[in-house]
Amino acid sequence: MKDTIVLYPAYGSGHLMSMVELGKLILTHHPSFSITILILTPPNNKNNDSTTQYIASISNKFPSINFHFIPSISLTLTLPPHLQTLELSPLCNHHVHNIFQSISKTTNIKGVILDFLNYSASQINNILDIPTYFYFTSAASMLSLFLHLPTYHKKATKAIKDFNIDTPIELPGLPTLFVDDYPDDGKDPTSPGYQTLLECAKVFRESDGVIINTFDAFESKAIKALRDGSCVPDGTSPLIFCIGPVISTLYDTDEHQCMSWLDLQPCQSVVLLSFGSMGRFSKAQLNEIALGLEKSKQIFLWVVRSELDLDELSLDELLPEGFLERTKEKGMVVRNWAPQRAILSHDSVGGLVTHCGWNSILEAICEGVPMITWPLYAEQNLNRVILVKETKIALKLNESADKFVSASELGERVIELMESDKGKNIRERILKMKISANEARGGSGSSLVDLKRLGDSWKELDSCNKLSPNS
Ligand code: UDP
Repeated sequence: MKDTIVLYPAYGSGHLMSMVELGKLILTHHPSFSITILILTPPNNKNNDSTTQYIASISNKFPSINFHFIPSISLTLTLPPHLQTLELSPLCNHHVHNIFQSISKTTNIKGVILDFLNYSASQINNILDIPTYFYFTSAASMLSLFLHLPTYHKKATKAIKDFNIDTPIELPGLPTLFVDDYPDDGKDPTSPGYQTLLECAKVFRESDGVIINTFDAFESKAIKALRDGSCVPDGTSPLIFCIGPVISTLYDTDEHQCMSWLDLQPCQSVVLLSFGSMGRFSKAQLNEIALGLEKSKQIFLWVVRSELDLDELSLDELLPEGFLERTKEKGMVVRNWAPQRAILSHDSVGGLVTHCGWNSILEAICEGVPMITWPLYAEQNLNRVILVKETKIALKLNESADKFVSASELGERVIELMESDKGKNIRERILKMKISANEARGGSGSSLVDLKRLGDSWKELDSCNKLSPNS
């Protein structure tokens, strides 16, 4: 009977793709295992065609990766999009339990890797005695802050949200933070998001290990604090495996022909503006971005996504009058989605304005593309600190208190990145980081060493879980 590792990604294409890449990586280095991936289907049977196509293409190319779909349930989601899995996954646990029992008739489950947002499924693994690992698809710095949260919570006299803007926050393995750097969900102890994070951190501390999509040379201080336990002074820190950067190798279709347009542009001349799967802007903000780009006179490729209630408007209606016509020699504007991975790998691209989503950051590092940071939600403020203060591979975009960015600020930062000495230094540093990323993933690099350690820990495990046909 073949050994399998079960992966359970959170809801959303970014989480799914990252888990699939992890599965592929495990198979490359440990071909004796098979990979089983559980798919959370959207509530109310609202299937997403692009996800279905993606899964079909992976199934065709990788026969050792099997998918199991968790039946859809009826539910109206109330949490913000980046936290919706927290609502959905606890309601699916009985289905997950049934799937584990069904899988174990033909395979031996050696371990389960949960996306951290699916942490409630660890109850099932505890009941069934299956070793539980978490896959943390964000920074080691965020994990360090997060594992420290129960300690911080016990001794805190004041909520972070009430801190003065210039009060320093010192945490193990992290640079000095300020309230604006702190992840939104961890600022207010009375919010549902905070209570969930607290509970989740306790479950993490007791897990068999946490796999992080990062690498030693990028986040050395935070990784050290995780490994030496200083971020969990009042408990046990889980085993840590840093196996990144794991990025998708599968390119999307290029329906807008971005790549052939890039072929016509000079080397390292284009600034890409892309804000992840959830970054949306008001008409007023889109106007400022447009005016800033026009004024900068730089070449740009801009993926425009507007707030939901504006989606029916055409690009001409959304953007300033005459903008598309005036900038047609300088820029390309596409609606909603572009093949970002492929674009970043094109020689013509010389900069990325990013919302600081972790996958986008790793993709930019792997291609040596310097960034301008515009965090929008979740832990992206903290990610910006790593890029701007710790590693100095990005510029900071200054936004107002309500996260609004003016045309002049955007235009000046884009020129600074593309034309100034500061921009040149940032480019040199990210090219060095690109080399470090390649070293981590190759030969006896730190990420391969951790991946081997992880696989060895599974191989050593007896088939002792309660689902095992041998027990
Ligand atoms: N992405 C893309 N095209 C787009 C926007 C995003 O291919 O127009 C991809 C991007 O390359 C990355 C993922 O979607 O792999 C976004 O993940 P990230 O962690 O950066 O942000 P999130 O969407 O999770 O906030």
